[in-house]
Amino acid sequence: MQPQHQAAPGDLEYVRRFINTWSIPNQTRTATDDLPLLARDAESWREALSLHPPADKDSLEQLRELRSDLRKSCEGLDKANGLLNAWFSRVSLSVRVKSVEEGASQLCVMPADGSYIAYILAAVANAISSGTWSRLKTCGDCRWAFYDNTRNGSKRWCGMTKGGVDGRACGTIAKVSAFRARAAARAKSDPGAH
Ligand SMILES: [Zn+2]
Repeated sequence: MQPQHQAAPGDLEYVRRFINTWSIPNQTRTATDDLPLLARDAESWREALSLHPPADKDSLEQLRELRSDLRKSCEGLDKANGLLNAWFSRVSLSVRVKSVEEGASQLCVMPADGSYIAYILAAVANAISSGTWSRLKTCGDCRWAFYDNTRNGSKRWCGMTKGGVDGRACGTIAKVSAFRARAAARAKSDPGAH
């Protein structure tokens, strides 16, 4: 069960779940890749990821490469968007104009082949144009991908509350270690203090 308040809007949520098929679980603290298992089992795939199944043309190797590049983009490591642009030039996408309220129109990117990769990249393209892509972030500590729904977009960790439903409370952990480091530095500079 995915905690609801770190969920991304619309299809971007499926991108977030896809990125999190690589994770560092709380319990083990070792990097785990769920993708090979999910790609083999259609039902688990649907449950965990989306209604769009992997197509025959989506090799596991390519899915992993896409996941890693999307993660890099969320982690701010694709500054010039070279990785994203390389993917956009490789997949088939099409563009439609959608009517929205008050006679306005909006561009909507859609996958043009049956691949899961095109489906995910269409969701990324739409998130970029609607301004939500930059709010898909990865935790500075455990690297879990979450959607930043704070007003000013300043969230850096997956969860702030110890034992909260939205992660392992990396924000609290970071605050406590910063506090300890400051206290240790103070004790060092003032040996007489108790
Ligand atoms: Zn975290």
